[in-house]
Amino acid sequence: MGHRRILLIDDDRLQHRLVQGFITRFRTGPWECDGAKDFATGMEKLLSGKHSVCLLDYRLGDLDGLKLLREARAAGCVVPVIFLTADESTEFEDAAMDAGAVDYLVKGEINPRSLERSIRYAVKLGEAMERLNQLATRDSLTGLFNRRDFERVLAEEWQRSVRFGRPFVLVMADIDHFKRINDQHGHPVGDAVLKHVASMLSGQLRAVDRVARYGGEEFAIIMVETTCKQAVERMQRIAALLAEIPCNVPGVAEPLAVTFSAGCAELPGHASDPAALIAAADKALYGAKAAGRNLIISASLGRGASA
Ligand code: GH3
Ligand code: MG
Ligand code: MG
Repeated sequence: MGHRRILLIDDDRLQHRLVQGFITRFRTGPWECDGAKDFATGMEKLLSGKHSVCLLDYRLGDLDGLKLLREARAAGCVVPVIFLTADESTEFEDAAMDAGAVDYLVKGEINPRSLERSIRYAVKLGEAMERLNQLATRDSLTGLFNRRDFERVLAEEWQRSVRFGRPFVLVMADIDHFKRINDQHGHPVGDAVLKHVASMLSGQLRAVDRVARYGGEEFAIIMVETTCKQAVERMQRIAALLAEIPCNVPGVAEPLAVTFSAGCAELPGHASDPAALIAAADKALYGAKAAGRNLIISASLGRGASA
């Protein structure tokens, strides 16, 4: 087992000292312990994705650990969590497991050996869950998020937008005349082009933007805290870069010229539900295709000329 980071969320300083002391006596390692003493900090660190396992206090001041875990799971967190509790009861045990905890330890009964054992099992389980999560949410060819995950995130962002009044943009992008590439060079070359475009999209967009493979040569991108105008500009930059950076595929003498067309639609403004937002972005995309391709069109701004 390589270098691992443990997150301890507990409002009791003594507990931090105790756990840290135990960790120094682990037989495996190296282990690093990161701490949080309140709900907000704990949630932020847990969602950072930087930890292999989390030890979570059941009684975390006024706000309970169960609530923290439920909210973290709802936000897509897959880090394995072990509860630390003052006493054991089957009622608590059920609630902890229902919330998604992998184990729980009774505070007074922990020793370095039992803590290390529980942590190591949790980390192994976490690694397996991570692999399963990858399989369930990613497209195997491009590594982008798959359509199912996109639909989940779209519904979530929709809820967030309604609740907090935050805008977001949906971009539907489709490679131009992709069938020709397949027809002229064969399917494997088409696959390589798909990967090239996919890595360009995910490489040029922010980490918070969600890039998914929506279908064959079609991509769906969710840009949060973004206006349609900004989305069009970003997509135009990517289109310009795609024109500049040659798409070299092994076995093909000349670099391939690849362009895409895209339609952008934003919330609020262009739709009253997620399906309508997809339809609005799709309509703009078809407008871009009809207008000659290699274009980015916004549902609100009309045509935006591409590079
Ligand atoms: P347009 O500019 O109007 O979008 O034309 P197009 O040729 O890109 O669109 P069309 O929908 O006619 O063809 C898309 C092609 O993409 C057809 C399909 O065989 C191919 N395709 C879909 N998925 C894959 C894939 O995973 N790999 C490869 N190589 N080709 C794929
Ligand atoms: Mg196409
Ligand atoms: Mg298509």
